[in-house]
Amino acid sequence: MAKVFLNGEIVDEGDARVPITDRGLVFADAVYEVVRVYRGEPFLWREHMERMERGARFLEIPLPFGPEELREYALELIELNECDLGVVYIQLTRGPAPRLHRFPERVRPTTFMFTQEVARPDRELVRRGVDLVTIPDVRWGLCEVKTVGLLPNVLGKEEAAKRGAFDALFVRDGVITEGTSSNFFAVRDGRLITHPVDNILPGVTRAKVLEIAGGLGLEVQERGLRIDELRACDEAFLTGTVLEVMPVRSVDGIELGPPGALTRRLLEEYEGLIEA
Ligand code: PMP
Repeated sequence: MAKVFLNGEIVDEGDARVPITDRGLVFADAVYEVVRVYRGEPFLWREHMERMERGARFLEIPLPFGPEELREYALELIELNECDLGVVYIQLTRGPAPRLHRFPERVRPTTFMFTQEVARPDRELVRRGVDLVTIPDVRWGLCEVKTVGLLPNVLGKEEAAKRGAFDALFVRDGVITEGTSSNFFAVRDGRLITHPVDNILPGVTRAKVLEIAGGLGLEVQERGLRIDELRACDEAFLTGTVLEVMPVRSVDGIELGPPGALTRRLLEEYEGLIEA
C-alpha cells in the first residue's frame, strides 16, 4: 500500500485518518500545492513552498513544518512509493474544530502529502496543440490564494471534456484570465501576452516561462487579453506544473495552431530546465 505523510508521520494510506470536522473538509479552509517529480526529485520545490507560505499567511494558518523539513518527508515518500515520475500533493488545512465560521482559538493545522504517478504530457498533443473552449469565470475574488475550493475549476474541466475540448479558459468581463489548472499565454506580433497576477493563480510555471522569456529578450505584456483579440493572435499556450508548456491549437474554434516558433522555443527551454 502507498505511504502518505500526515502531521509528521509516514503511514500506510489506509491508516491516515483526519477528523470529519476538519475545516479543510467542512469549509475548504485550506491551501495546497502540486509539485512535479522528475527522476525522483521534486522540481521547483522552493517556489511552491513560497506560494504555500504566502497563502497560509493570508489565511492566518500557522505552518507546522518548514519547507526543508517537508522536503525531507517528501523525498522519503517519493522513495518509499518509488515515485520516479509524478507529483507530490501537499495540503495544509486549518485543522479540526467545532463548526463555527470564525477561526478557532486553538488551531491545530492538518498537513498531509501523498505522491501520485503522472506521465509527461502526451507527445502527440504537444506536437499538434490542444483545443480549448471558454467559460465564464465564476470564481471568487481571491484567485491568488491556492485554495482547495476548486469546484468551479472541476466543473470547467468537466464541461470542456463534454464539449470535446482539452480544457476550458475562464473569461471575466470579456478578458481571458487562465485555464482551469493552468495559466494562459498568447503571442501577438512577436510579443508574449499573459494576464497579470491580479485575481489569477500565480503559476510557478508561468513565472519560470516569464523568466525564460526575459532571458531570451522577448517582449512581454502582462495584460488581459480580450477574447475578441484572439483572432489577431498568432500562437497560444498553457503553462502548469503537470502540463509544462502545452501549445494551444484552437480556442472556441479560432485556430491558433500548429505550435508556432515562439511557443516551440519556450517549450524547448522549459524542457531544458527539466533535463537539467
Ligand atoms: N491556474 C490555476 C487555476 C491552477 O490551478 C494552476 C495549477 N496549480 C495553474 C494556474 C498553474 O500553476 P503552476 O504552474 O504553479 O502549476
